[in-house]
Amino acid sequence: MTIVDTPTDAAPTAPTGGPELPQERRLVTEIPGPQSRRLLERKAEAVAKGVGHTIPVATVAAGGGVLVDADGNSLIDLGSGIAVTGVGNSAPRVVEAVQRQVAQFTHTCFTISPYDSYVEVAEALNRLTPGDFVKRSALFNSGAEAVENAVKIARHYTKKQGVVVFDHAYHGRTNLTMALTAKSLPYKSGFGPFAPEVYRVPLSYPYRDELSGADAASRAIAQIEAQVRAENLAAILIEPIQGEGGFIVPAEGFLPALQRWANDNGVVFIADEVQTGFARTGTMFASEQFGIVPDLVTTAKGIAGGLPLSAVTGRAEIMDSAQVGGLGGTYGGNPIACAAALATIETYEQENLTERARAIGGILAARLNELKATDPRVGDVRGLGAMMAMELVDPATGAPDAALASRVAASVIAQGVVVLTCGTWGNVIRFLPPLVISDELLNEGIDIVGKALIEC
Ligand SMILES: *Cc1c(COP(=O)(O)O)cnc(C)c1O
Repeated sequence: MTIVDTPTDAAPTAPTGGPELPQERRLVTEIPGPQSRRLLERKAEAVAKGVGHTIPVATVAAGGGVLVDADGNSLIDLGSGIAVTGVGNSAPRVVEAVQRQVAQFTHTCFTISPYDSYVEVAEALNRLTPGDFVKRSALFNSGAEAVENAVKIARHYTKKQGVVVFDHAYHGRTNLTMALTAKSLPYKSGFGPFAPEVYRVPLSYPYRDELSGADAASRAIAQIEAQVRAENLAAILIEPIQGEGGFIVPAEGFLPALQRWANDNGVVFIADEVQTGFARTGTMFASEQFGIVPDLVTTAKGIAGGLPLSAVTGRAEIMDSAQVGGLGGTYGGNPIACAAALATIETYEQENLTERARAIGGILAARLNELKATDPRVGDVRGLGAMMAMELVDPATGAPDAALASRVAASVIAQGVVVLTCGTWGNVIRFLPPLVISDELLNEGIDIVGKALIEC
């Protein structure tokens, strides 16, 4: 006789993700519900505490503009897993390409025996990134790894060591990228010593410094010339719009002036487009909108519909300077991730998602500026395309109000909307919706943010 033990509190069968999921906000329990609580308890017992979480739910499916949890709640997704799922979760082309590839072969190590999809991703990146010079690409696994490799390549090419980065910058959590990242807590504190030959200079932060782009660039360049000098400097590394640092959009002219100085002084100009890349800002890469053509571009997040992949793309003479065997890694450019990237890039292009990002940006900018007009605690609204944010401040002093940002975010999340904060002072609420979200869901999400702001 077989005894079937039927658990009474089993999670309902997980729905399939993708755009077919009902596109609605639906709360059937409080957030987190009982199934999510159970997962979070197990997480606390099994997973290192340093690995945090923002949204206290156990995800079981996601697609379009929603994320469904184990209790059956459907949350509006205004975060895209930090700007990763621009094409949506389980996007149909990505699912199909991954399924095909996983059944074909899962791994060879590209540096052992090459395959077509890696080369095709490199060709696509060489075509899509700014600049009509001859380019090469190399593929890696994470954004931090791409940034590390861009610095390695720039040092090898210039035979110099210094790297200039900016206030508020975020470039990752590995040893070199911790050194490149500005914010101490939580990213660096206690994890030193950090890699040497990294120099931090002031950014252009129009809301707080009120400098023109040209003046902010002169200030940065004067500091570089006084404290580093071009003859010691391999690269200037900058996010065209800072991501974790607070969605800071530099004043017009800042980035071109830096690039000009770098080009004139034998310094490699690297744009870290890990967060801004792939249609997010309304063009394939944000650099295009600032009139810059970087020597090297790092990409990751939006590249492969959620599969881990990253890249460095740039001028052939710089990229080719590293010796054979000097670049690579066991998993870099994994065939499943490459298949996903090709399907993702096809989706951006076929579905006109750059245009969709601009439309989303229009809605976000209009709605957030309405909030700003009626609430002096909204100090600044900024961003490009589907990468927008509002900076919350004390209206009397302009001081960052991180407590308000956390209260608003917590209230919004409890009402079934995924929203993220950022900024050196944690006082910025950022919006990074999937580019396939409907106007209805987007507006409903912003409504909830607006109400939470009034209530907090
Ligand atoms: C997220 C991010 C990184 C790091 O990417 P990981 O994949 O998390 O290593 C680097 N640069 C920028 C601009 C980022 O937003």
